[in-house]
Amino acid sequence: MTAAATELLDYDEVIAEFDPVMGLEVHVELCTATKMFCGCPTAFGAEPNTQVCPVCIGLPGSLPVANAKAIESAIRIGLALNCSIRPSSVFARKNYFYPDQPKNYQISQYDEPIAYDGHLDVVLADGTQWRVEIERAHMEEDTGKSLHIGGATGRIHGASHSLLDYNRAGVPLVEIVTRPIVGAGDRAPEVARAYVTALRDLLKALDVSDVRMDQGSLRCDANLSLMRKDATEFGTRTETKNVNSLKSVEIAVRYEMRRQAAVLLAGGEVVQETRHFHETDGTTSPGRRKETAEDYRYFPEPDLPPVQPDSSWVAELATTLPELPWVRRARIQQEWGVSDEVMRDLVNVGAVDLIIATVDAGAAPEAARGWWVSFLAQQANSRGVELADLAITPAQVAEIIGLVDEGKLTTKLAQQVATAVLDGEGEPAQIVADRGLEVVRDDSALQKAVDDALAANPDIAEKIRGGKVAAAGKIVGDVMKATRGQADPARVKELVLAACS
Ligand code: ADP
Ligand code: MG
Ligand code: ZN
Repeated sequence: MTAAATELLDYDEVIAEFDPVMGLEVHVELCTATKMFCGCPTAFGAEPNTQVCPVCIGLPGSLPVANAKAIESAIRIGLALNCSIRPSSVFARKNYFYPDQPKNYQISQYDEPIAYDGHLDVVLADGTQWRVEIERAHMEEDTGKSLHIGGATGRIHGASHSLLDYNRAGVPLVEIVTRPIVGAGDRAPEVARAYVTALRDLLKALDVSDVRMDQGSLRCDANLSLMRKDATEFGTRTETKNVNSLKSVEIAVRYEMRRQAAVLLAGGEVVQETRHFHETDGTTSPGRRKETAEDYRYFPEPDLPPVQPDSSWVAELATTLPELPWVRRARIQQEWGVSDEVMRDLVNVGAVDLIIATVDAGAAPEAARGWWVSFLAQQANSRGVELADLAITPAQVAEIIGLVDEGKLTTKLAQQVATAVLDGEGEPAQIVADRGLEVVRDDSALQKAVDDALAANPDIAEKIRGGKVAAAGKIVGDVMKATRGQADPARVKELVLAACS
């Protein structure tokens, strides 16, 4: 996809020669019911161009009205990021022509964003804390989507024609921009990932967005430049657009560090441009030369009044902030009594919230933990999905654990039930009933299977009668097979030994 000739410097050499400077811009689509400036619905995945009206497709004479819920979400995001909230902020027109932007301008905020000067503390893998300074969080509207037909991998290059879907045009966005992150050195890629992860968790806890990077409701652009060790000014940056997973954020930053270092060491100059990230091979390639703010001819949006949130309203919103995810995590760790290391693993596999929800649904913490980190983690792995995206809910897991606790299912049977749920066969209780999976409690049924197995293996039966208790294992195995795993092995063993005594 990208020129094979792109030179990359060894990472260690990059670090020896340069300091990276990073700036992260995160766009988050708010999960309001309606768009930023009109009443159109915002649901993801609808038929193209069914969620549009004169306002969001920019017909002449239509007038925008700001969505109060979106303003509320923007303020809560600002507060959660320790920002100041501006008593009066204005919308601005950012002018540019692009086919997915039907008005030929985007309503955004420019020099008076609603929230500014904040910070977010993030925790790195080794437990150290890193403070990321937030420059601003501002409100804007999303663009539509172009679909390029006929070219390779959906790119416009080589396409025969393009289709436009304006359903997303006008969906409320908050853009969160960091100040330049300096001094991270070799940890810059890790800081980038940790920051986007912490931000995602925070936005999720605030319940303001779906934060689905794969569906584009959370999108990250990574700005990166390098400074020579002795330099006093920042170097020229590139902006890698729409990096669509947490892992990719880390990969993209690392790649740009290695690429820019090779350019600079060869005596070249870094071009200020946007770059595309390629999920398939983790590389970036040139996009467009970067416009400067002047090119956009920003001016105050004449059709919208300033946003002037009442200070008492802001104070009230401050009381609605949820317990911060990392504070909550520390509290949960205490409650569960697990080590830092175990907790970090649980966080890394994305199991914490799932375990909490499973416990809330009635399971014991230990059983809940066991299910998510072993059997279900294996299932996620083999199915190639994230733990949270498995087709089983914490309530269903709790129900299955309950069936084991009641002795209705053995662990093996419970795993069969969970697998069936994952395969979309229905609810646990239904699956147990449909497949007749319950543990056979009825001794008379078991007795028959035991007698059959002993009769089929007279030599082994003889050994057991002679006192070789270990030989019973084979008979128990046969009975378990005959009952399709539905017997309680301990009870079967008792019955076998009783039959041979
Ligand atoms: P743009 O409109 O170009 O996207 P923004 O101000 O929205 O600009 O975002 C630029 C981002 O890049 C910010 O996070 C900022 O901190 C960061 N940044 C600015 N200068 C540099 C630089 N020289 N190297 C790396 N990052 C930078
Ligand atoms: Mg920007
Ligand atoms: Zn509309």
